[in-house]
Amino acid sequence: MNADNLIGLLHGLARHTPELPGALCRNNIGLFDSERPADVAASIALCERCPALRRCADWADSVDPRYLGGTVGGRHYPSTRRNPAPSAAGRAPRR
Ligand code: SF4
Repeated sequence: MNADNLIGLLHGLARHTPELPGALCRNNIGLFDSERPADVAASIALCERCPALRRCADWADSVDPRYLGGTVGGRHYPSTRRNPAPSAAGRAPRR
């Protein structure tokens, strides 16, 4: 990807990133980026209690999953995945 494409991608993502009041991941970025199974389970459990889950999950569903990594909107997107689909085990119920 060249620099112009990268800048365009970042602008597009920033423009479409929703405000997520009350986001429980706000001060736990390391936990949400972790690939350790215990951390993945803990981050998904936080998403399930997050007041921003619906809005966050809707946003995640609107993004090409190749650009997602870690836990987002109650789902875990492995950073080492070949298939960009989120893991089935990492799905939180949608509200
Ligand atoms: S649903 Fe999860 S990833 Fe989304 S804002 Fe809440 S805690 Fe963060």
